[in-house]
Amino acid sequence: MRIARFTVGDEPTYGVVGGSDGDQIVASVVGDPLYSGVELTGEQFPLDDVRLLAPVIPRSKVVGIGRNYAAHAAELGNEAPTEPLVFLKPNTSVIGPFDPIVYPAQSSDVHFEGELAVVIGRICRDLPLERAGEVIYGYTVGNDVTARDLQRTDGQWARAKGFDSFCPLGPWIETDLDPSDVTVTTDLNGVRKQSASTSLMLHDVAAILAHVTSFMTLLPGDVVLTGTPEGVGPMQPGDDVSVTVDGIGTLTNQVVARD
Ligand code: ZN
Repeated sequence: MRIARFTVGDEPTYGVVGGSDGDQIVASVVGDPLYSGVELTGEQFPLDDVRLLAPVIPRSKVVGIGRNYAAHAAELGNEAPTEPLVFLKPNTSVIGPFDPIVYPAQSSDVHFEGELAVVIGRICRDLPLERAGEVIYGYTVGNDVTARDLQRTDGQWARAKGFDSFCPLGPWIETDLDPSDVTVTTDLNGVRKQSASTSLMLHDVAAILAHVTSFMTLLPGDVVLTGTPEGVGPMQPGDDVSVTVDGIGTLTNQVVARD
């Protein structure tokens, strides 16, 4: 099932996306399905007539995993970590499909990082590997936008990865996905920049969740970004960046200069 969050003019609403490609519809549901299950209101709209929003507003945090693909660690001259390398992005960095990524004045090297994103459905701490599936609500597509120059000079990554608009998520949450071998691709202005299978992750989704929850409680609505494959690179104002995860969909945003 695909859960979207959208507006058709006024209040944000959740809905279930269905229909065939090119003729998709979104059926409104009552409340937030993450907390109240899926109860259709009976209203539905052509997908083309709604504005999609970030499918989830992380309850408390976006957790990121650094250097989780060996080839990406190598391209930036880093060792691949033996344990998942964990960082945080504030929930205020989250934007939705087609929302602008704002190029900050403090950086001159802003990169895309296409990633599979996990949406947490249940509160969890000290999660055993084999129970990871029980706490996953679904999966969406993420772009872990990073000011590479500030990441190097700051040491701490809070600023480099935490600017407002640096966490595009969408276009919806897919609740039925096997994340072990799906392809993540990133296109910049229509040119393929990243393409790799999630099977190349050094730490898979279950291992990431087990590690993160060994020291941090995850709440329903929290989001975990699983790391980016090789091929990261700079974006400029005016660029269109699209991240696709097979089985989920495509998340597109445009980079804009700060006013
Ligand atoms: Zn990343």
